Amino acid sequence: TKVLLNNRIVDLKSANVNILDRGYQFGDGVYEVVRFYDHAYFELEAHLIRLKESCEKINIPFKMHLKKLESDLVYLMNTCDYSTGYVYIQITRGVMDRNHIYRDQLDLKPQLVAYTVKEEKRPLKLMEQGITVHVTDDIRWLLCDIKSLNLLGSVLAKNKAHEKGAKEAVLHRDGIITEGSSTNVFIVKDGTLYTHPANNLILNGITRRVIIDIAKKEGIPIKETAFTIDEFLNADEAFTSSTTAEIMPIVSVLLDEKTYALGTGKRGVITQKIQDAYSDLIAKIPQN
Ligand code: PMP
Repeated sequence: TKVLLNNRIVDLKSANVNILDRGYQFGDGVYEVVRFYDHAYFELEAHLIRLKESCEKINIPFKMHLKKLESDLVYLMNTCDYSTGYVYIQITRGVMDRNHIYRDQLDLKPQLVAYTVKEEKRPLKLMEQGITVHVTDDIRWLLCDIKSLNLLGSVLAKNKAHEKGAKEAVLHRDGIITEGSSTNVFIVKDGTLYTHPANNLILNGITRRVIIDIAKKEGIPIKETAFTIDEFLNADEAFTSSTTAEIMPIVSVLLDEKTYALGTGKRGVITQKIQDAYSDLIAKIPQN
């Protein structure tokens, strides 16, 4: 595995970082995960724009040229020995003596690390079968629109879900569903698609945006309106969306030690229609 360290490509074994990096001691940084299918990135530009926006929201100066970063990432992808997988990219505020206050440190240099994580084929079987989710409190902070390195809230929720045999944690604040621990959540009710509005309480997923575009093109009514736990449990269909797991039907729900079937307990027809349109987009990715 090769690693992009700022503007150098090095072997994973020799890719060292300074322990005084603020990403390490404060989680002071942001990240992205981008998929590639058959040696071509999917929605790379949208991910890099969101990376830049995440940086700007926490005052990390983003001075890289997106086109240069894009070509470095294409180079990195082409060094790995599989064709379908994903790349992880993170930017931290930089290296300095441990201090919450960074503002007086004028020579701080943001540090970029990117590497191809692993081969990850499309989860086609699971996309048909669907998954069980566990509904739990959203204990995260109030700037969830930033793709921050601080993932403890998500890590704890996902592990609790895993412990209960569920694939994903679906999070709620005071009974309103926000999103999953690493996914956005959609429901279908009476033919209309609903998902939480893109405000500070969720990450505006790139997959979420693609799905909204698909819905508009396919004439599926889409409302960026939040829904309650009850509305979630009573939905006709539901699914999660994310870069790595794509569009994943939710077929059953664990909540307060009870299990509920979602809709028919099988993948819904609108869910499948959106999956099919998403697959068409993947099949038509322009080569980088
Ligand atoms: N919400 C959260 C909290 C996430 O971590 C992710 C994935 N990183 C998503 C939503 C989905 O975003 P995307 O479609 O851009 O992968």
